[in-house]
Amino acid sequence: MLSYIDGNFVDEEQATVSIRSRALNYGLGCFGGIRAYLADDGEQLFVFRLDAHVRRLERASKILFLPLPIGRDELANTVLELLRRNEIHHDAYVRPMVISKTAKLAPLLREEDASLVIWCMPLQRYIDKDSIEVCVSSWRRTPDNSIPARTKPTGGYLNSALARREAHDNGFDEAIFLTTEGKVSEGSAEHVFIVRDGVLISPPSTEDNLDGITRRSLITLATEDLGLSFCERPIGRTELYVADEMFLCGTGAQVTPVRSVDRRVLGEGGIGPVTKRLGDHFQDVVHGRVEHRRDWLWPVWG
Ligand code: PMP
Repeated sequence: MLSYIDGNFVDEEQATVSIRSRALNYGLGCFGGIRAYLADDGEQLFVFRLDAHVRRLERASKILFLPLPIGRDELANTVLELLRRNEIHHDAYVRPMVISKTAKLAPLLREEDASLVIWCMPLQRYIDKDSIEVCVSSWRRTPDNSIPARTKPTGGYLNSALARREAHDNGFDEAIFLTTEGKVSEGSAEHVFIVRDGVLISPPSTEDNLDGITRRSLITLATEDLGLSFCERPIGRTELYVADEMFLCGTGAQVTPVRSVDRRVLGEGGIGPVTKRLGDHFQDVVHGRVEHRRDWLWPVWG
């Protein structure tokens, strides 16, 4: 696979950083995660909400004093160009990162050290199950005042990795973080939605979670296209146990139904009707079947 590093398209093996780099030693950097979907004609590839991903990465890099080395439009075009150069004709994942490649001892963020790298890979399903069993993690989400989740920080994913490891060791598929205050935050790489009495509920991004692009898209689809009621508010742990439905969402996870939380089976234990409707509509949108949402899709070919 070709990747991109500071203005050049090179073989992934040649896109290397020093073992002394601050990116590697201290996790100094932020990243994005973008999906490209193969259209129904088997030819066209649609990048989902590329503009929103680029904007979020730009904001993250501002917080971290690692400004995007190229403009937003150029970054969007570079993502498309990378997919073209790799001749991608299947579902794919693209990972742009702004990192500090500098090989200096002390952890320090400096504007002049910002490096842009992008890699991509084929991706069908990130979570390979139709519905999952989750637990509430004993690890708390890193607060915005410590390692801001809204920056999608490379170093911050140690928090996610610890929670996923604990969940897997205990026989669960995924972990749900609480904030330090004990409110529901997010999964290791997904946002949380529950359905209670017909209302879709999701915690705001002030609960130490990422400003999610799938989450925001689903809120729009639910309220504008499907006429569902939505409420953004903090969620308590035990509300998860008595939810009628719950699902996780994200660029990787898409819409992933949750079967149980801490061994409490939700609803009828299957995929709930709201989750199914919204999940199906999301798939139609990302594959270009919904005309009025075509402006969310960036065609790679033609
Ligand atoms: N939370 C975390 C911690 C994530 O890493 C991700 C994946 N990007 C998400 C939520 C989902 O966000 P998005 O829909 O923007 O991919």
